[in-house]
Amino acid sequence: YPSRSTVVVGQSSERPGVSIGPGFFTLLAGPCAVESLDQALEAAEMARAAGASLLRGGAFRPHTSPQAFRGLGKSALRILAEAGAATGLPVVTEIMDAKDIDLVSEYADMLQIGARNMQNYALLDAVGRIAKPVLLKRGIQATVEEWLSAAEYVAQRGNLDIVLCERGIRTFEQATPATLDISAVPTVQRLSHLPVIVDPTHASGRRDLVLPLARAAIAVGADGVLIDVHPDPDSALCDGPQALAGSEIRELASAIRRLAPLL
Ligand code: PEP
Repeated sequence: YPSRSTVVVGQSSERPGVSIGPGFFTLLAGPCAVESLDQALEAAEMARAAGASLLRGGAFRPHTSPQAFRGLGKSALRILAEAGAATGLPVVTEIMDAKDIDLVSEYADMLQIGARNMQNYALLDAVGRIAKPVLLKRGIQATVEEWLSAAEYVAQRGNLDIVLCERGIRTFEQATPATLDISAVPTVQRLSHLPVIVDPTHASGRRDLVLPLARAAIAVGADGVLIDVHPDPDSALCDGPQALAGSEIRELASAIRRLAPLL
């Protein structure tokens, strides 16, 4: 696309904000689900120490199984904001229901629309009306065209600060929960000016695949990666097998730095 956009997250009179877009490579990291203040603070510190510039944590958690941990909701938002303030990192969290727009925007610097809600038009309209950046994940069965149409819904309401996130799609392959569609990154960059990042964590569901897929994301020109971290992945309330522990996120970040200038 002739000129690609940069989205700035968490800008205020006190801080410059974090840019996502061409010329930078942005590491977003944090706990898949906020479980407690201690866990969130530890995970945020791990993210910061590794060089992440945005803290991502789940308060409202979408899961295929209703038995899985669904998040602490409002108290997780408070905890996440506290962990963000303690580490100086702007925070990103998922919103699942349009009725929560005021609540979530009160605490978050960027609102995530998850794969399962990519075509939730009421939600797209709601985030389109606010003045906060949106992280729009690709639906697990969505084509690139459908994904870009979802972004247009947001933009049509006036919010142009949209970052796309490729997180893998459903294919016949069963080895991983989703197949990372790495070709979507340059494809989207030819069709749209929006920044695009990659989530190797949810695509692979396996921590041993996170680093190689993050490398692939850099190689195809993604603007950043989103990585789950947890101070003790084996005790995580959800998605432990895909979360990186402290030494692993540091290793990933230094591998990234060898390939791309980390913001
Ligand atoms: C997440 O990012 O926390 C998540 C659940 O991912 P996805 O919406 O891509 O499945």
